[in-house]
Amino acid sequence: MQDIYEIDGLAEPLCRWYQKNKRSMPWREAATPYHVWLSEIMLQQTRIEAAKAYYERFIERLPDVKALAGVPEEELMKLWEGLGYYNRARNLQKAAKLVVERYDGVLPADYDLLLELPGIGNYTAGAIASIAYHIPAPAVDGNVLRVLMRYLNCRDDISKAAVRKKTERSVMKIIPEDKPGDFNEALMELGEVVCIPNGAPLCGQCPVAETCQGRIAGTQTELPVKPEKKARRVEKKTILIFLTGERVGIARRPETGLLAGLWEFPSLSGHLTMKQTEEYLKQKGVQPAGIRRLKSGRHIFSHVEWHMKGYLVEIMPEQAQDTMQEVVPDIVWTEKENLSKQYAIPVAFHSFLKQIPD
Ligand code: SF4
Repeated sequence: MQDIYEIDGLAEPLCRWYQKNKRSMPWREAATPYHVWLSEIMLQQTRIEAAKAYYERFIERLPDVKALAGVPEEELMKLWEGLGYYNRARNLQKAAKLVVERYDGVLPADYDLLLELPGIGNYTAGAIASIAYHIPAPAVDGNVLRVLMRYLNCRDDISKAAVRKKTERSVMKIIPEDKPGDFNEALMELGEVVCIPNGAPLCGQCPVAETCQGRIAGTQTELPVKPEKKARRVEKKTILIFLTGERVGIARRPETGLLAGLWEFPSLSGHLTMKQTEEYLKQKGVQPAGIRRLKSGRHIFSHVEWHMKGYLVEIMPEQAQDTMQEVVPDIVWTEKENLSKQYAIPVAFHSFLKQIPD
């Protein structure tokens, strides 16, 4: 594999196009390092339109790195609720604490120092350095890889680290010193609105169409090349919403793994019938005062799918404490009306959350 991709000639038409077509985004209004950082982390998992509301709410409550470093974790999780990938929020806070400790609350204007912070990889470091500090640094994400592989009519596998590195070197070679941030944003923006994924790119609107080798060869819809995704594993679960009077039972998930440390409704693995669920509870000494079936739910994570059945189980107040400990050792009973306000319940459980009777 050669050391570098030849993409000379891309920068000028791209930056010109970006100047005219730049979309307005809340984080672009005052592109401070904190704003760029936060928006990039949010955009790793969320569409731009959806991220805007989260971003604005987050910034209003936590306007700077110091505020982020000091917010209680429960509140941070609540602010992040709905965005998924909660470890990203935890890493944001870990990094914010280090930035307060080492740099008095200001992200360092240095690509390598940025890379030392938790949750900041090459792409995010490049985005912060180039957009907020105007330092020439590559910010290569999936959008950029797609655009460049199509532009070059190149069949290299974009899931390979070597291809990403080579792309970073190539970008670095042509990045304009006077507007590195604009160049990076232009490439990303082209990938988001013109050279779009999953379907036909809008080559008729593309500022680099004349020199695009993929378009000329007619291969643009076949590119980029990436390995087939493995089928997601399906996990069957039975969700149990325990109710006693006006209170609902929730528990914390384990500190590692999927949705680590977040709140959930207790569950059993597999799809249990109502009878099996009752029997299971009886074995544990719990005699439900009532049980009814809920609508099933499904949640898709990157590698796993949860297929969930659910039951609403009413528990007599005298069984809610000691007896229930046999079923869910760390159960916490919370008032129904406080549940959503006080606890971050992952989206995976929201279809069940909505079925709790008023
Ligand atoms: Fe992508 Fe088409 Fe532009 Fe080539 S011409 S970069 S394939 S949008």
